[in-house]
Amino acid sequence: MALRTLILGGTSEARELAHRLASRDGLAVTVSLAGRTRHPVAYDVPVRTGGFGGAEGLARYLLENQIDLLIDATHPFAARISVNAAQAAVITGIRFFCLKRMPWVATKGDQWFGFEDAGSALAALGAERLKVFVALGRQELSALAAQPQHDYLVRSIEPVDPPVEVPNIHYILGRGPFAKADEIRLFSENRIERIVAKNSGGFASMAKLEAARELRIPVHLIDRPRLPEMPTVHSTAEAENLVLHLAASAEKRGV
Ligand code: NAP
Repeated sequence: MALRTLILGGTSEARELAHRLASRDGLAVTVSLAGRTRHPVAYDVPVRTGGFGGAEGLARYLLENQIDLLIDATHPFAARISVNAAQAAVITGIRFFCLKRMPWVATKGDQWFGFEDAGSALAALGAERLKVFVALGRQELSALAAQPQHDYLVRSIEPVDPPVEVPNIHYILGRGPFAKADEIRLFSENRIERIVAKNSGGFASMAKLEAARELRIPVHLIDRPRLPEMPTVHSTAEAENLVLHLAASAEKRGV
């Protein structure tokens, strides 16, 4: 019997893991998306979309669909679904682990300042008008309204709708991975003086930090939300090995 696996996705890691597992024998993989992006990138396995209705709803889904293994490969800032996943695994007793990329760590030449949330990262820009590059999600962008004195350049995957109520704001669309040379050009052309972003980790959006280092631009970086301890791997290769190991032992047990 195939090991029925549900990957909670919405990240490049989830997509890569699904791709690695799609052609493997002994597995039946489904990816779950929240449905935030209107045009999500295609996956190599079946996809279901939309919330489950909290931890209990997810537990119900896992039981109804006879899922054997739950993998939380959501974004490190998607705290609610991660807590729900851990609770649903306890409720159902099914196997569970997280795939979470490591946070970025400052190196020589970086001028990073850490903040708990978007509001404090933006407040720390100060009263003087600055040109600020903003790489935040839709939820955090509302915090710009409390600091209307700056010139904002906001990059997002999909159009920001409704727009943020500040007088000087310009929107650009972009989906990673981004190249360092392009980020340097973008920041130079727009004379960016500060960057506000989340410490997402991973490769796809790291180039902005490399560009900031080269151009000596200070970065206001929002720290990850604190989550309870969960069994976690940090790379898709580790996750793939673990899944294959679990599939092999399930087959041996005749599950
Ligand atoms: P969140 O605050 O942790 O979750 C809010 C609710 O959205 C959850 O309670 C759940 O609804 C639903 N949900 C979230 N992820 C889901 C998934 N993969 N499948 C089904 N339902 C899901 O999450 P968020 O920060 O809004 O992020 C939403 C999605 O975007 C995540 O899948 C995440 O991987 C992706 N993403 C987030 C960020 C970020 O910075 N937050 C960045 C890039 C990608 P129910 O309680 O009804 O089940």
